[in-house]
Amino acid sequence: MPEGRDPLVLDSMLGKLATYLRMCGYDAAYALDRGAEADDDLLALAETEGRRLLTRDRSLAGRREDAVLLTEREVPDQLRELSAAGFALELSDEPRYCGTCNAPVEPVDRTEPTPEYAPDPAETAVWRCRDCGQHFWKGSHWDDVAARLAAL
Ligand SMILES: [Zn+2]
Repeated sequence: MPEGRDPLVLDSMLGKLATYLRMCGYDAAYALDRGAEADDDLLALAETEGRRLLTRDRSLAGRREDAVLLTEREVPDQLRELSAAGFALELSDEPRYCGTCNAPVEPVDRTEPTPEYAPDPAETAVWRCRDCGQHFWKGSHWDDVAARLAAL
């Protein structure tokens, strides 16, 4: 866990934001991936896994001391809110958590076969999600997100 990056859980309205936070190296669980749509389930998940709750629901935020209430609707605005709240928002040096499912990713060996959508690992560093098998690399999407974060 990189310094200053607490494990998080995001409510059902914050799915897109979760993907960004994972690219920044956060262990960012998403309510709907975890079957925790109801407030009580979400609070229980935060409690049992020691995750900080990010929510757009004011009354829910009031039920947990370290919760972060987000008021904005759009992801860039939400990222600005988090930055103002002291969250580190730079891409991690290497992908750590799957943007799709939040499981840890692992490096793909240079000689391993990769799916058609992914580059050749002999030429480009590629990572694979341990759970869902999605492959990641630092391509144009990575650069786009880096630029967007730098512009906050
Ligand atoms: Zn995955």
